[in-house]
This record gives sequence, C-alpha cells and structure tokens, in this order.
Amino acid sequence: MTSSPLEQAEQAEEIVDNTAARLARRPWPATPIRPGIDVSFEFFPPATAASEAALTSCVDQLEPLDPTFVSVTYGAGGSSQDRTIDTLRSLSETTQMNVAGHLTCVGATKNHVDAVVDEYRSLGVRRIVALRGDAPAGTDGSAVAGGYATAADLVAGIRARHGDLDIAVAAYPEVHPKAESAAADLDALKKKFDAGADRAITQFFFDTDAFLRFLEAARSAGITQQIIPGIMPITNVANVIKFSQRCGTVVPAWLPDLFDGLDDIADVRHLVAATVAAEQCRRLAEHGVTSFHFYTMNRPELSAATCRILGVRPVSDGARRTAASA
Ligand SMILES: Cc1cc2nc3c(=O)[nH]c(=O)nc-3n(C[C@H](O)[C@H](O)[C@H](O)COP(=O)(O)OP(=O)(O)OC[C@H]3O[C@@H](n4cnc5c(N)ncnc54)[C@H](O)[C@@H]3O)c2cc1C
Repeated sequence: MTSSPLEQAEQAEEIVDNTAARLARRPWPATPIRPGIDVSFEFFPPATAASEAALTSCVDQLEPLDPTFVSVTYGAGGSSQDRTIDTLRSLSETTQMNVAGHLTCVGATKNHVDAVVDEYRSLGVRRIVALRGDAPAGTDGSAVAGGYATAADLVAGIRARHGDLDIAVAAYPEVHPKAESAAADLDALKKKFDAGADRAITQFFFDTDAFLRFLEAARSAGITQQIIPGIMPITNVANVIKFSQRCGTVVPAWLPDLFDGLDDIADVRHLVAATVAAEQCRRLAEHGVTSFHFYTMNRPELSAATCRILGVRPVSDGARRTAASA
C-alpha cells in the first residue's frame, strides 16, 4: 500500500525532526577544539644509548606543546632507580619543563625513600608522583621494617618533610587488581588525599565511561582534587593487552579486533591508534575533562597527534611555562 501525500509529508517532517534532534545531541565536531586543554607526558628512564636517543627525540617533539609537567617512572624493584635520577637530572638541565619524579616505597626503608626525595629536590624537581609500587615477585608487598606501608603513608611522610612539593598519586578507574573492593580502593585514594596529595593520575583505561563513572564516585566520596585521566596511545597492541591484564585495565572486545592483522602494517596501525586515543580524549573533553596525562612509552608521535586533535599547538619558547615560574 502506498502512503498518501499527507502521510509522506509527515514522514519527511519526522525524519527532519529526528535528524535535528540527533545533531543537537552530538554536534560536530563532537568536542569543538577549544583553549584550556592541559597535557602532561610520562617517560621511562632509558637503559641503552639507542633508547636514550629515542627519549631525546621524544622530548624535542613534545616540549614545544608546553606540557604542565613531564614525569619519569621509577622501578619499584630497584634496577632502574639510578637511571630515573639521571633522567630527571638531564631533563632539569636541558629543558625548561616542570619535571616530576615517580617514587615507590615498597621494599625500601623510610630513610632510603626520604633520601631519594632530597636528591630529587637537589635536582630542582618540585613534583613527586608518590606510589606504593608493586610487590616484588615472591613477596606480599608488606612494608620492610622502618618502611612506608602504603602510598598514603608515603604521601604523609613526604608532606611532613616538604610542604612545598606538588604530590600526585595513582587512581584506578577500573579498581586496583589487589584491592578488596571498589569501595576499599576509593577509600585508599581518599586516604592519599587526606594525607596531603594534590592530585591523582589514573591508570590507563579504554572504557571511557568507566573513568566518568569513577570520577562521579570520587566526587560523591568527597574527593574534590584534580583527577587526571591517564591515556595510553597503543604502540604495541599485544604488549598493551598483556600489561592491561596485570594492572586490571579492561580490554574491550573491539580493541584487539580493531588492530587485528595490522602487526606488519605500521602506518595503518599508527593511524588507527591515534584515532582511538583522540576519540577517547574528545569524549572525555565532551564531559568537561580538560587535563590529560599521556603514557608516551618514549614514542612521541601518537601523543603529539592526539594533542593536535585536542587543539594543543606548539608554543613559542618565550611563551612556555617554565620550571622556574612554576
Ligand atoms: C599514574 C601511575 C604511575 C605509576 N608509576 C609507577 C612507577 O613509576 N613505578 C612503579 O613501580 N609502579 C608505578 N605504578 C604502579 C603502582 O605502583 C601499582 O599500581 C601499585 O600496585 C600500587 O601503588 P599505589 O601507589 O596505587 O598504592 P596504594 O595507594 O597504597 O594502593 C592502591 C590500591 O591497591 C590496593 N593494594 C595495593 N597493593 C596491595 C596488596 N599487596 N594487597 C592488597 N591490596 C593492595 C590498596 O588497598 C588500594 O586499594 C603507577 C601507577 C599509576 C596509576
């Protein structure tokens, strides 16, 4: 049966109405590029001359984006701790960026940890990412005699000795794998803020809604401080999946599917990875998130591409924030 001209006109009007409603719900660009986005970058300390050169080139490409800070990871096991200090020294001496040193307390005495903080300060480092660290293999991670037991204890220890340091801590939108429950995990985060932390950086995640729900739960629990989403651009999907399993990050089914067959097609893989990270950041920005922390894995391209899509552009030397002005 064919519809009457009146019915056809009504159907056409309905389509127009639905389209208008849909467009209003999700305007394009979904997150208009806007000022006020802050970014920070995480590096790991290089172990070889080749990886040192890779970090130098990473820094050369990312420093012009005027990050709020860059951070350098610290090996809880002890193997790379000197390299962290060397990297912090080099970044402090050769760049103008605010540098943050990660620091773990598991398996170390308070005296040792306090001495590392003092050394960071002597290098001009004014930001610490204070962590408990993963329990070394074969141990339950209990504090050594005279050690800080949790990240909250570590924060309190640093804060008692240095009122002026900016302290960031870790947060887990999808719950720390060893936490008793989501509520216990949130309580652990609250304790870190109560002990004097200034902000939190999250574990990486791919389920963006999980972060937004976590943020809401944190606000409901009375946490008012900044919680910066940790963004992991995917350089190597197999490694990311392995690492996700260890740290409790949920890998959505679409993710391995998206990268399937791209192992030997680097160009396409990188374009896909940048798109995934950019979509994630745009969705977060749509919900009011303005700060992003990138796990760069010492590879600048994907973070730089994502920053560009977020509207972050290179800033001239003189106009950048500097460690001295922080
Ligand atoms: C932004 C960020 C940066 C990081 N940088 C580093 C780094 O540089 N070096 C490094 O080694 N690691 C790093 N990590 C990993 C981190 O050290 C581990 O996730 C560690 O297991 C917990 O550290 P925390 O500071 O969150 O600990 P806490 O705040 O003390 O604990 C976090 C949660 O885990 C639970 N939990 C932790 N361990 C146990 C346990 N053994 N038994 C029961 N519950 C437990 C706590 O109850 C709590 O719910 C980082 C993580 C993040 C998110």
